[in-house]
Amino acid sequence: MRIPLIAGNWKMNKTITDARAFMQTVSERVPDPAEVETAIAAPAILLASMLAENPGQRLRVAAENCYYEDSGAYTGETSPQALADMGIPYVICGHSERRSYFNETNDVINRKVHAVYRNQMTPILCCDETMGRLEAGEKIHWVVSQVTGALKGITEVQARQLVIAYEPSWAIGSGQSASAAQAEEGCYLIRQTIADLYGDPVANEMRVLYGGSVNPDNIAEIMAKPNIDGVLAGGASLDAETYLKLVNYQ
Ligand code: PGA
Repeated sequence: MRIPLIAGNWKMNKTITDARAFMQTVSERVPDPAEVETAIAAPAILLASMLAENPGQRLRVAAENCYYEDSGAYTGETSPQALADMGIPYVICGHSERRSYFNETNDVINRKVHAVYRNQMTPILCCDETMGRLEAGEKIHWVVSQVTGALKGITEVQARQLVIAYEPSWAIGSGQSASAAQAEEGCYLIRQTIADLYGDPVANEMRVLYGGSVNPDNIAEIMAKPNIDGVLAGGASLDAETYLKLVNYQ
């Protein structure tokens, strides 16, 4: 009922030349989006070249970040309006690296989530979980407060389309993925939080992804869990053939 989403996050990697070569290899070889949706989030500077190498539009070309105002005197920022005008469907909001290196708070992330919806795009809202090794009660509080804070003022209609990625920060880029059971626990907790905020029908419709050292060897076990609807993969999305293995996890 929920279409899986296998998303990559290139972070600050690749040149236009690299991005074009990746798209030429991958764009026509990903699954039918009606069966398995695929996306690559890339730096804003690469997006136009990627779109130009995506003739069938099977692969969604996504953004990693945007500002929360549509336009104006904000030197160096990326306009959500400009992303929407390019035809970008998804924008990552609140990645753990944005939270920790660029001091993005739940309030800033909430404003970005509003900006993404206002421009008819869909946020991939990331929740990190630095407290993974602490008591369960603290972990619940941390994840719930990130989801609740980022979604302040978001309507039920908007929340239905939402994608949330559960990404324990200790698993990101570490080569040490959460176990499938830990990933399921985090994703279940997020879905429960959405159920508390918006009710069960919305919670059953929106998608929850797991991210953190996903690779072709662990993806099938992760995807088999009932509350995990996809992945957000960093390192494993950089190489074209490795990404194709991820999208063909079944
Ligand atoms: P990783 O990154 O797959 O390299 O751990 C995931 C992410 O940061 O989204």
